[in-house]
Amino acid sequence: MFGMIEGTGFEAIDPSFNDCLIGHARVERLWSGARWSEGPVWFAAGRYLVWSDIPNNRMMRFDDTDGNVSEFRNPSNNSNGNTVDREGRLVTCEHLTRRVTRTEHDGSITVIADSYQGKRLNSPNDVVVKSDGSIWFTDPTYGIMMDYEGARAESEIGACHVYRVDPAGNIAIVADDYVKPNGLAFSPDETKLYIADTGASHTPGGPAHIRVHDVAVDGSLNGGNVLADCTAGLFDGFRLDQQGRIWSSAADGVHCLAPDGTLIGKILIPEFVGNVCFGGPKLNRLFMCGTTSLYSAFLNVNGISPLGAV
Ligand code: MG
Repeated sequence: MFGMIEGTGFEAIDPSFNDCLIGHARVERLWSGARWSEGPVWFAAGRYLVWSDIPNNRMMRFDDTDGNVSEFRNPSNNSNGNTVDREGRLVTCEHLTRRVTRTEHDGSITVIADSYQGKRLNSPNDVVVKSDGSIWFTDPTYGIMMDYEGARAESEIGACHVYRVDPAGNIAIVADDYVKPNGLAFSPDETKLYIADTGASHTPGGPAHIRVHDVAVDGSLNGGNVLADCTAGLFDGFRLDQQGRIWSSAADGVHCLAPDGTLIGKILIPEFVGNVCFGGPKLNRLFMCGTTSLYSAFLNVNGISPLGAV
C-alpha cells in the first residue's frame, strides 16, 4: 500500500505547491470495487469516511481504525454528494428520490428538501452546510438524464439551480444562471461561495469552471465571476484548505488552485476523480474518490472542519 502506485504522483506547476507536500508521502489506493465514487465525508468522532458508489446504489464506509471498507447503506437511493452539519450529522444528496436528507443521531432520516414551489427537484448533486445551519445544494439533471445513476424523468423545474434551505426549512434559489451546478464549498470565513459548473459534460463548449460569489449576510449571493477553467475534464466536487486553496477533482486527478484561481499543482490519479474531502484527526489527509477506487494522500495542509473546530 505504501509504495508508489503506477500513474500517481505530485506535479508542481508553481513552486508554492511544494509547500503543500510532504516529501516522502505517496498516494495510497485504499480500496477498489466501485463503479462511480463520489461524495466523500469524514466523521471525526468515529474515525471513518463515508462515500457514495452512485450506480451501485450504495454508500461505502472506510474505517480508519483498521482500514476495512464495508457497505454503509444499501440501497442508498443513488446517493451522490455528502457532508456533515455542525452537529456531526450526515447530510446526503439522493438522485433516485430527488431529495436532500439528513441522517439523525438515532439513524432515522429526515427530508431536508425534495421540491421547489410544488415541483420536484431534479437530482441534488452536492451539498454544504454553513455555520448558521443553512444547507446549500446544487440540483443538476444528471440523476434524471439516464437510469444508470437514478431514474430517467423530465425535469419539472426545467432548469438547474443552486438552493439554500434556512434553519426553519424555507427553500430559496440562490443562483439561477448555471448550466449544471455541481460541487460547492465556502471560503474559510464563509464570505465567499465557490460553485462548479459542469455544463460541458452534455453541452459542447459549455462551462467547465468554478465561479466565485460573495455571500451576503441575508444569505443571498453577489458577483459570480469565473475563478478558473478546468484544464483537464471537469471540476466536479472540491474542498478548501485553511489557507483558502481549492482542492478540486478533475479528469487527471486533483487540481490545487490558489485562492485567486491559479493552478499551482496536481495530485495525479490514474482515474477520473469525482470528489475529495479532508480527513484524519488533523484534517491533513486528502481522500479522493477516483471512479472505481478510494485514494488518499497526506499533505502539509489542513482542511476546514465542517464542525467548526480548528
Ligand atoms: Mg458532483
